[in-house]
Amino acid sequence: MPMFIDTSPPGHCIFCKIAAGEIPAAKIYEDALTVAFMDIGQVNPGHVLVASKRHAVTVLELTAEEAAAIMQTAQRVAVAAQAAFDPDGITLFQANGAAGGQTVFHFHMHVLPRHEGDGMALAWPRKEPGMQMLQAYAEQLKAALQA
Ligand SMILES: [Zn+2]
Repeated sequence: MPMFIDTSPPGHCIFCKIAAGEIPAAKIYEDALTVAFMDIGQVNPGHVLVASKRHAVTVLELTAEEAAAIMQTAQRVAVAAQAAFDPDGITLFQANGAAGGQTVFHFHMHVLPRHEGDGMALAWPRKEPGMQMLQAYAEQLKAALQA
């Protein structure tokens, strides 16, 4: 997990300032809704952040149009990273809320070129609650989707 934590108030956060060009960043792409720039931490060469231009904290606050634009930009950046750095793999990583691993509270998605043994780890405990619970969770989500 990245150790940098931005505690700026909403609207004055570091990614708002980067999007506005108020502080320097190694930008690689921007359009009406998104901006892509080099992550200062660089897990591996070519590690890019794709952020919404508008200040939205998490995925829950994005408009559908912004969500689509973020994924389109992330996919373009991934294709460019593959061409430029020839990684063994690419991880798209996006965290929401402190409990979700978010450290800068302005929506962003990591495009992470990956190499065998590069030291990046994500614990993924399998809990396998069984089909009855899966169906119950599915019913909860379907009800929420229709609301
Ligand atoms: Zn912001």
